[in-house]
Amino acid sequence: MQQKTIGIVGGGQLGRMLAQAAHILGFKVIVLDPTPGSPAGLVADGQIVGSFKDEAKILELSKISDFITFELEGVNDEILEKIAKKKPVHPDPKVLRIIKDKFKQKVFLKDHKIKVADFTDIQNEKDCEKCGEVFGYPYLLKAKLDAYDGRGNYVVKNKKDIKNALVKFEGKALYAEKFVPFKKELSVVSARDIFDTVVPYEVVETVHKNNICHIVRSPASISNKTKEKAKNVAKKVLQSLGGVGVFAVEMFLTKKGEVLVNEIAPRVHNSGHHTIESYSISQFEQHIRAITGMSLSKPRPKSKSSVMINILGAREGKAEYRGGEKVEKLGGVAVHIYGKIETRKERKMGHLTVLGKSVKEAEKKAKKAHKYISI
Ligand code: AMP
Repeated sequence: MQQKTIGIVGGGQLGRMLAQAAHILGFKVIVLDPTPGSPAGLVADGQIVGSFKDEAKILELSKISDFITFELEGVNDEILEKIAKKKPVHPDPKVLRIIKDKFKQKVFLKDHKIKVADFTDIQNEKDCEKCGEVFGYPYLLKAKLDAYDGRGNYVVKNKKDIKNALVKFEGKALYAEKFVPFKKELSVVSARDIFDTVVPYEVVETVHKNNICHIVRSPASISNKTKEKAKNVAKKVLQSLGGVGVFAVEMFLTKKGEVLVNEIAPRVHNSGHHTIESYSISQFEQHIRAITGMSLSKPRPKSKSSVMINILGAREGKAEYRGGEKVEKLGGVAVHIYGKIETRKERKMGHLTVLGKSVKEAEKKAKKAHKYISI
């Protein structure tokens, strides 16, 4: 049997864990990333050094790949669409185009009768003022494009604050969203295969700090009815979009028990990292199965609960992982370090996962281990 090759556009930690999963299933992996020795490049069978927007580089990757996928939204979807006419590119670049523009994404969801927070397009300062009158303060101003980990968000506190927001976002296309005083943030990671089967993992609760995902608790401590509701919303999102692969649907659970979609990620997601240890099949392996035309595997939980905590950089400079020995002594902590050479404040450098009989028990140990680690 000739070994098939998967080309991954983007070489960050998601690409790295995808490459590791692809190897388990017997595929070769080549990644495209601008940084030589990228986290994914370090474990893949090769890396093309170049921008994920560079047409020539993406074509070069496609020539040596049997399947193409991506691990971030900011890729050149036009060239991917051309390639998709000749070989499998998943998720469909047309789906990526809807999702990468957060405003278009919200319009798509609304058009498909999927509940979201009230939102509106913003062209100028007047629109912002009108928004304050209609939505009330605070409300969120969001960049439509290239906004990940909340980096494109601004909470507008009052009318005076509008000017500060517009300075921050100068030159960027914007939209506004009503502030949701949510009870919890939930996420459902699901996969859709080429046969239109959608397979979800259990609903998780995510806790964000400074807009960055900090803790993931699986399962979310919500009623079974809300779990079903969240999973059904995610299924509807995936079937409406029609893409193949793993998607994360991030949601707000309101005080009234409503489930509103906040954001869709057309890729493996931070809220699914725990699946590496906590399920019979990880989100990464599931994605590889889907994009290579295999049927999906039913994920069976390996423990009652699990907790994942991100390991973020705390300083600037060369990364140095410390505290591993102490964590080892605790036992039962799975630490993943992504191999990034430079550390930066709040840069995602790794994560850890702990399984347990309850979320409380797992979280206690995960937090203890997390305190020991610096990078
Ligand atoms: P985003 O990158 O747009 O998903 O936003 C990052 C985080 O900001 C979310 O996970 C929430 O914690 C918060 N956030 C985003 N939109 C809203 C909203 N409309 N109301 C309240 N909080 C929000």
